[in-house]
Amino acid sequence: MPRISTKIAEISGSLPDGVRLVAVSKFHPLPSLLEAYGAGQRLFGESRADELVAKAAAMPADVEWHFIGHLQTNKVRRVVACASVIESIDSLRLLQAVSAEAVKAGRTVRVLLQVHVAAEETKTGFEPEQLLEAAAIGRDLPGIEISGVMGMATNTDDADRIAADFDAIAGVAGRVRMLVPGASEISMGMSGDWPLAVARGATLVRIGSDIFGPREY
Ligand SMILES: *Cc1c(COP(=O)(O)O)cnc(C)c1O
Repeated sequence: MPRISTKIAEISGSLPDGVRLVAVSKFHPLPSLLEAYGAGQRLFGESRADELVAKAAAMPADVEWHFIGHLQTNKVRRVVACASVIESIDSLRLLQAVSAEAVKAGRTVRVLLQVHVAAEETKTGFEPEQLLEAAAIGRDLPGIEISGVMGMATNTDDADRIAADFDAIAGVAGRVRMLVPGASEISMGMSGDWPLAVARGATLVRIGSDIFGPREY
């Protein structure tokens, strides 16, 4: 496995202007995050509330944190306190809870609405029509700013299916932009498929194992 700093430089160097790397550091220890930080990485993604809170307290203050995991409403307050973007809004109830906690905390949290397009039943997210309804409600909620859409492609070797999934995610993002003009982010692409996601219009790629190696659960 090449060094973390080498991978960060390699991936960052191959992203076109306007596409940002979210280094997905979930389950990886602090020294690994610090190595990425030393290589210039400032944007990190975490998927568990407790881990995000602990790492945010331990890492330098100029790190920008994106929350990318399934979020239970009882953990919203803690995530709102550290995350600049919550990418994984998958229900209207969660969107409303984030709004309420952000108002209480006196801040604005950017959110992405997670869309379900993959073949797997297990991947969470709104169906496209529900997502548009949530965007129409969410644009009027205080404390949040709908910044775009996040999604995952089907876990398959079939590049055509993956490309079709990315096109579907980008298509939903385009429809959200008609409701919320500032919602320009399209977060898609992970270790196995990010070059294809970039070719299909991603503005954020979320890469974990390609940078940090396999996760130890
Ligand atoms: C873990 C995770 C990633 C990164 O996955 P890798 O395959 O390690 O790159 C990206 N997005 C989400 C939502 C994740 O949970």
